[in-house]
Amino acid sequence: MNKIIDGKLISSKIKEKIKEKIQNLDVKPTLVVIQVGNNEASNVYVKNKKNAAINVGMNFNHIHFEETINEQEIIKTIEKLNKDNTVNGIIVQLPLPHHLNSNKIINHIVPIKDVDGLTTINLGKLFNDEECLTSCTPAGIIELLKAYNIKLEGKCVTIVGRSTLVGKPLIHMLLKENATVVVCHSKTVDLKRFTTKADILIVVAGKKHLICSEMVKNGAIIIDVGINKIDNKLYGDVNFNDVLDKVSYITPVPGGVGPVTIAILLNNTLKSYNMMNKKD
Ligand code: NAP
Repeated sequence: MNKIIDGKLISSKIKEKIKEKIQNLDVKPTLVVIQVGNNEASNVYVKNKKNAAINVGMNFNHIHFEETINEQEIIKTIEKLNKDNTVNGIIVQLPLPHHLNSNKIINHIVPIKDVDGLTTINLGKLFNDEECLTSCTPAGIIELLKAYNIKLEGKCVTIVGRSTLVGKPLIHMLLKENATVVVCHSKTVDLKRFTTKADILIVVAGKKHLICSEMVKNGAIIIDVGINKIDNKLYGDVNFNDVLDKVSYITPVPGGVGPVTIAILLNNTLKSYNMMNKKD
């Protein structure tokens, strides 16, 4: 059995469906990415988002500010984009430089255009089981599991990482699927005690090879979200070769969660378009 979850394949299937839907639209959806400064990883992520958006037939607008920009200028731009009916999705590429308050800036995006699902309103709706735009990476993880018919109900799922971007929204998405969720973080004592309990282990810590074979239960499913670039090479948070024999499924890095995250971003932009135009 092939144990390796093919994120690129799942992503292509989602994007193909989006492309078909967009082909039938007279006015194409528009995604806007706001970037500040020249973070090397952000440059790559924005380029990938741009290529993916254009490939499915969306319009893509990249607003790139100098590192020294102040909060008010960014907020003014967001408010203009909020009022522009041709704009459907707005994201602020993270991380922002330290002098800028990400939460404050993101919360100026109107929830209907918040395709990263990071405004307090969308996070609150998720918490409350209300229909909303949800954060792309956790939604992508749920899509990957479903695509491989991996059932969540009754399973013990351990998440390593509690960021607002991934770990926290994921807790609610997993609970909605009736999983039992354990959440670990940097202050967790004896991480192994919790990771070895997991039927499904989701690691989103940003620490190269944090998880090795002895921390994993036999037959576990591993979702490795981490992307660690060291000497121009990408590593996950899980030591892939070390755990491979022990697991029943695993996502590779790269080629696992990353491509699906982008597909969900495009899907959210189409959702926003449909909500703005009162379509399904
Ligand atoms: P983050 O905001 O830095 O959060 C990291 C989390 O991991 C924190 O909750 C932290 O605990 C926890 N942590 C750190 N070291 C740990 C350790 N030794 N043991 C247990 N927990 C530990 O990062 P993020 O934005 O969630 O991203 C995490 C990783 O995922 C990064 O490598 C990022 O590049 C990657 N990522 C990938 C995608 C994708 O599409 N594939 C999307 C988003 C992020 P504390 O809360 O106690 O600090």
